[in-house]
Amino acid sequence: MRATVNINTDKIKYNAAIILKTCHDVGIDVAAVTKMHSADINICSALLESGVKYLADSRIENIAYMSENGIDAEKWLMRIVAPSIVPDVVKYADMSFNSDISTIRLLNDEANRQGKKHKIMLMWDLGDLREGYFETAHLLSCVRDMKDLDGVELSGLGTNLSCYGGVKPTRTNLTRLVEVASMIENETGRKLDHISGGNSTSYSLILEGNMPEGITNLRIGDSFYFGRDVKKREYIPGMKNDCFILEGEVVEVKIKPSVPIGERGYAALNSLPEFEDRGMIKRAIISVGKQDIDLDMTPIDEGALILGASSDHLLVDVTDCTRDIKVGDKMQFNMLYTATMRSFTSKYIDKRYINE
Ligand SMILES: *Cc1c(COP(=O)(O)O)cnc(C)c1O
Repeated sequence: MRATVNINTDKIKYNAAIILKTCHDVGIDVAAVTKMHSADINICSALLESGVKYLADSRIENIAYMSENGIDAEKWLMRIVAPSIVPDVVKYADMSFNSDISTIRLLNDEANRQGKKHKIMLMWDLGDLREGYFETAHLLSCVRDMKDLDGVELSGLGTNLSCYGGVKPTRTNLTRLVEVASMIENETGRKLDHISGGNSTSYSLILEGNMPEGITNLRIGDSFYFGRDVKKREYIPGMKNDCFILEGEVVEVKIKPSVPIGERGYAALNSLPEFEDRGMIKRAIISVGKQDIDLDMTPIDEGALILGASSDHLLVDVTDCTRDIKVGDKMQFNMLYTATMRSFTSKYIDKRYINE
């Protein structure tokens, strides 16, 4: 049996309904972010059934995949466009994220060639220091230059937080985004369709009651899939946090010491692990590894404890496990973001869809 991810699309829908309502109540629409599951078609369909209007992904391959598999929704490429992929961006994405007028010009020319209108979300950097304009003069000069382009349409201003710099969204920095957006609106004499205030960490700001007026969009992945308040690193009460369960096969069970024997240097994947001496323990090996998952998972079996993993072996302490684990048994793990993301890009993992 290959390791498998059990995906509960009903639980994802349940979370989506809660998030959409919370956002709509404060005048915010939501783009559901699909990159964590490589735009899995069943999950995309579930999101649309929940009432999501926009699907956003950072990979043009995923956006093309959605288009070619009948996902009928407005699709956003939420990554700064690389000049070399402009033809595919115009072909598959309705909107893309941009911070450079020369790339926007390429998008404009290509849109005219393809007989389309391509929407532009300009990015503004509030201090997290990844993508986006940093000077209002540069931003407004781009806005002015765009007035002459008829293949592209300025649709929104967006920002990213909690990414490179780990800068948190706050009422203060998102108020600044709204101010910068109104400078653009004054320049063009037209309201922007979207003022996009970030990702799941900005959803936390709504929960705190601190979302400023004027933010009209969020791009949410994590909170949909894990029911987490990502800023606080806590589960949101009442939401589902077991939508993605990994199932793997036990290939070895042996009693061995808890601390390695011999002179120690680097272990697999450049790690320098440390060990706590807990005497002899019963250890199970599951045939899945860091090529396919990460260790942000929790065993479903009570008493089981993840010890570590190399590329192809996951080690679990099953000494206190309520079940007597044997070779050939299956063990399940509730995955968080990084584990789930890798499981979807690994070609060694199967998918199973569960509705209940
Ligand atoms: C991934 C991503 C998001 C969504 O982040 P979550 O933490 O999953 O909500 C939003 N915006 C951009 C630009 C992203 O790359």
